[in-house]
Amino acid sequence: MNAAATTAPTAPGQVIVIGAGIVGVSCALYLQRDGHSVTLLDPRGAGNGASFGNAGNLGWASCVPAAMPGVLKKVPQMLFDSNGPLKLHWGHVPAAAGWFARFIAAARPSRIEEIADARQALLSRLHEGYAPLIEDAGAEELIDYSGLLMTWESDEAFAGSQYALDIRRRRGVAMEVLDGNEARQMEPALTPSVKHAVHFPRLAHVTDPGRLTETLARHFERRGGRFLREAARGFEMGPNGPVAVKTDSGRHAADRFVVAAGVWSKTLARQLGTSTPIEAERGYHTVFTDPGISLRAAIMSADRYIAVTQMDMGVRATGVAEFAHPDQPADMRYAEMVQRRAMDFLPGLRAESRTQWMGPRPSHPDSLPVIGRSPRFANVVFAYGHDHIGLALGGISGRLVADIVAGRPSLVDLTPYRPDRF
Ligand SMILES: Cc1cc2nc3c(=O)[nH]c(=O)nc-3n(C[C@H](O)[C@H](O)[C@H](O)COP(=O)(O)OP(=O)(O)OC[C@H]3O[C@@H](n4cnc5c(N)ncnc54)[C@H](O)[C@@H]3O)c2cc1C
Repeated sequence: MNAAATTAPTAPGQVIVIGAGIVGVSCALYLQRDGHSVTLLDPRGAGNGASFGNAGNLGWASCVPAAMPGVLKKVPQMLFDSNGPLKLHWGHVPAAAGWFARFIAAARPSRIEEIADARQALLSRLHEGYAPLIEDAGAEELIDYSGLLMTWESDEAFAGSQYALDIRRRRGVAMEVLDGNEARQMEPALTPSVKHAVHFPRLAHVTDPGRLTETLARHFERRGGRFLREAARGFEMGPNGPVAVKTDSGRHAADRFVVAAGVWSKTLARQLGTSTPIEAERGYHTVFTDPGISLRAAIMSADRYIAVTQMDMGVRATGVAEFAHPDQPADMRYAEMVQRRAMDFLPGLRAESRTQWMGPRPSHPDSLPVIGRSPRFANVVFAYGHDHIGLALGGISGRLVADIVAGRPSLVDLTPYRPDRF
């Protein structure tokens, strides 16, 4: 098959978006705003993958990549401590080995700075990406602007985080350094053992991430978009690329295709001739639905590897990175581990009434998503691999995908996110 043409189609046409997580739904809405006739495919409905149960942070301060020198030093301890946050099943080691080799390669200082720049280029536009979608759908009440507090319980851990804080500072992220008492004045629910904290005043969070995705998807349908609860199984190929998506129920023809199926994009991209090293970094949550406390800001405990957020349905604690097949059954012992950590961290939390969940973060080893035209087919655009920041980046990813399809100049330089970089 021929290489991707350099000129993009510009006239509105028929577009199929595969995957109705926050990324796919945002793509569908932006494409619809450009006048395309859009079909969204997802067997599970909207917002039921990773986009359902995440920590909700619109992490403007999340430019620091996962592969950092400090993290690499801690990996063995994190892996072998049964209460550690990192889980890798022996059976999954061969599948994940290549990923970890690339992860280690991404921890070079020069590469860390490049990755942080590329993450920040997207994160700094997150509100610009969401504003038109959220306003149009009337979903403003799902965004809470109460800031984020990051905490440390030892001088040593705080000292070890200075490089990561400096990476943020150098990219203009506003922050205020607090001691433990100042942190507890801001958030009285914190354990007395918090010694240091950093407050990020400009950070917002979504108070029900699943509902945000669903609200946007309903808005897409109200505006005439077609949403089919079907799984893409493969593509029917024409001389210049795909001409239809095959599902269990039949075939759906279109002239452009967007693959935005989170971690499951790996198989679909491969069918279209592009291999991408995505792994499922499965995270867990416990929602305390009758928590006994209410939080004033979103919180991240650097020592306990958990995020705790006040949501509409209660207080949600999230954590754990379990490398496993995304469809393998969840191991809810990890949700219980997150629960115990949250209860030690916020002693007033009540756990009598709670829910648990697991969802797969779609993670590339270089902590960057793929956002770009398929290297092989000019009528295919990829948008996947948003790891820990996909909720934050949904809106802006949708905007960038619509610009690619329309052939408009991009708001940001897309080179760092190109699909063939691996
Ligand atoms: C515990 C946890 C905490 C997190 N916290 C945050 C946070 O605070 N802030 C943040 O920004 N991000 C956070 N994230 C990351 C964020 O949730 C993800 O990056 C984001 O949800 C990815 O969105 P997505 O649309 O790419 O994928 P998903 O939400 O996983 O959606 C993919 C969709 O594709 C569908 N699909 C799969 N295969 C097919 C197929 N063949 N045909 C059709 N459809 C298909 C699936 O059913 C699914 O609905 C967190 C993640 C976890 C797990």
